[in-house]
Parts: sequence; structure tokens; C-alpha cells
Amino acid sequence: MTNESSFSLICKIIYGIFGGKNFDNNNSKDSKEFLGNPLKNKVLVLNQSYEPISICSVKKAILLLFLTKAELIAKRDGIVLNSVHSKVPLPSIIRLSRYINIPHKKIDLSRKNILRRDGFKCQYCGTTSGNLTVDHIIPKSRGGTDSWDNLVTACISCNNKKGNRTPEEAGMKLLAKPRKPNHIIFIKSFIGSAIDNEWKPYLFVD
Ligand SMILES: [Zn+2]
Repeated sequence: MTNESSFSLICKIIYGIFGGKNFDNNNSKDSKEFLGNPLKNKVLVLNQSYEPISICSVKKAILLLFLTKAELIAKRDGIVLNSVHSKVPLPSIIRLSRYINIPHKKIDLSRKNILRRDGFKCQYCGTTSGNLTVDHIIPKSRGGTDSWDNLVTACISCNNKKGNRTPEEAGMKLLAKPRKPNHIIFIKSFIGSAIDNEWKPYLFVD
């Protein structure tokens, strides 16, 4: 197999899971299915550089391992899949054998994506309950733009309290400086709270 065709094969296998659609899957439903069918587990895919690049199915991970396009970094303890010829450990993390440059889809600036980036948490008081809104840090009426660094998640109460003022004027402090999100934030958002301990070092979660 030439380098070119092997590259396109890897892309075919792991690509297509970056789109917004795939991140909309319901996590809780998935985690229930974990118990019944090990093949429903998700596998974290690392680039050759150990940078997490996506989540894929167990089936795709096993295919990449079988084709030696990836190596096994972590398996799920105690679970072994029986194939015709051999027993295969259930993968949890795999790493691609060669570095691939992935054209990450542009993340749209939208209300939903602002909320996801901020972990559905008011960036002023930290609450995660109640209706969440999107606040312009520098109000629009005062020249604030619609941009990743000027939009944050705010609860209705903080949004009302702040009104048409800057955080400084309102005496309100942001929990974190808002930034343009990268795909890792969306991998985290896709996984939800049921994140594997083994995945944490790669996703920079404490
Ligand atoms: Zn708040």
C-alpha cells in the first residue's frame, strides 16, 4: 500500500467524527450501552504526537490496530473480545503510527458552541443551573463584537446585573479569559462527565 493510499485510508477511518453532528450524540445513552455491549465503547484516538484528535468506535480502532496503522496505548481491563483466530483486548486509547495533518472543521461561533466551550457554566458566578444566556463582555452598544473573546456564558441573573456595563464597571469578574475553542474542548464536551481516567492525561483534565 502506498503512503498516499494508507493516508487516505486512515482519514476515511477516523474522519467524519469531527462534525458538529457527531458531537450531539447523547452521552448518557452511550454510557448505559457500555455495560451491555463492549463494542459500543468509545476509543480515544491520539495522533502520532500524542495529541488527542478524535473519538472512534471500537470497531474502527481494532481495524487500525489490525492494519498496524495504530498502536494500543491503553486497554480496558478485564474485557477481551473473541475473534475467530485470537483474543483481542478491548482498546481504550490508540495512537496513530504516523502523524496525520487533520483539517479540523471550523468551529462555528454560535450560542450553543459558546455554552459548550464554557462547560454550560455562568462565567461570572459559576452556576450551571437555570437558563443560560450569552453575554457580550463589552456590550454591543458600546462597540463590543460578536467574537469568541467577547462572548461568554452568563446566567440570567448575572446578565441582568451586568446590564449595559463592562465587567469592571459592574464589579464582576470573569472566571476565565474566553478564548477560541479547539477540537479538544469539543471532544471533552462529547464525552461528557463519564470520562475514562486513562483519557484524562491526554485531555488535560484534572
Ligand atoms: Zn451567574
